[in-house]
Amino acid sequence: MIVILKSDLTDKSPEYRHILEFLSHKPNLRTRIHQEIGTQQTLTEIYLIGDTASLDKAEIESLAGVERVVRVSEEYRILGRHKDDRRATGFDYNGVQFSQDNLNVFAGLCAVDNPTHVEMMLKALKEHGQVCTRMGAYKPRTNPYSFQGHGKSCLPWVFELAGKYGIKVIAMEITHDSHLDEVREALEKTGKPTGVMIQIGTRNTQNFELLKIVGRQRELPVLLKRGFGITLEESLNAAEYLASEGNRNIVFGLRGMKTNMGDPHRNFVDFAHVPVVKRLTRMPVCVDPSHSVGSRDRSPDGILDVMHVTAQGVIAGANMILVDFHPVPAKALVDGPQALTLEELPYFLEDVAIAREAYEKRRALTQRFLKK
Ligand code: PEP
Ligand code: MN
Repeated sequence: MIVILKSDLTDKSPEYRHILEFLSHKPNLRTRIHQEIGTQQTLTEIYLIGDTASLDKAEIESLAGVERVVRVSEEYRILGRHKDDRRATGFDYNGVQFSQDNLNVFAGLCAVDNPTHVEMMLKALKEHGQVCTRMGAYKPRTNPYSFQGHGKSCLPWVFELAGKYGIKVIAMEITHDSHLDEVREALEKTGKPTGVMIQIGTRNTQNFELLKIVGRQRELPVLLKRGFGITLEESLNAAEYLASEGNRNIVFGLRGMKTNMGDPHRNFVDFAHVPVVKRLTRMPVCVDPSHSVGSRDRSPDGILDVMHVTAQGVIAGANMILVDFHPVPAKALVDGPQALTLEELPYFLEDVAIAREAYEKRRALTQRFLKK
């Protein structure tokens, strides 16, 4: 059960103290406070854990200072959509909005290689009005002898270049808690010329200790990729791990599932689950067409499979696209064969805009139909 307090009620106010005092007399009940301190207002929610079945929702709602009480189902307590739950479906970070109603494109390098390629990428993004990118500094590789990413050493110049080209958010995977400190330190030292969305990769979706540490910081939002060999429920619970530690600024990423049935794609594309995740939770949903498809194959209509599945995700309401580009794919240190080129960037963005417009028309059509 979640007790949502009236905005701007602080822990110093008598109403707040009275509510906690009231709850403390209930048997077998623990409380956990969550505060969102925004520029306009402070929102406080009290999570009730334990024996909530016997609690009287109306009684709690009648207490002074209580805005609303939401009875949550067992699943995804914080991130889930519950009955009468009108909480927001997203967040703002560094001037960029993430929600279940909009769309952000994160085109960029799978792995940072050198300043020339990074700058070419960022310049192209700026020329096409983009403010987000992806840049891998820590790469989890199947083969221990493959390039593992430049790590900490590239962070200062990547952040500075991003700032130079007006990039507001970089999606960057980390594979260890020390990487989180390194990213935060480099942001601090460079004077925060950009922002970072911490990416948890598919190989770490159930690295619970990493999830807890990333969830404990609330400065940087998180892109959590779906685990490629576990159920959707298990991956959504992984997101709930982050939220239960305090960080709810989470985007959930679909990136294809590992099974031979998906052949000839690298992974079995799971973008049919975009609306499912939006129905089950309040998280914005990202699709990663590059790691799903894993090639530059095209169908007889001339359209690349990567672009077909991007459009399929977007027309189903995806809110973010994470996609590999490279100025010279043949020279990319990781995943060159699936990268799109800078010449393809405006074409890709236009194709995305067509799919998004189609989604918006479908949504409007459905709303008209349901009102009849
Ligand atoms: C990536 O986005 O670079 C990546 C490695 O993705 P995934 O964790 O989905 O394989
Ligand atoms: Mn990759």
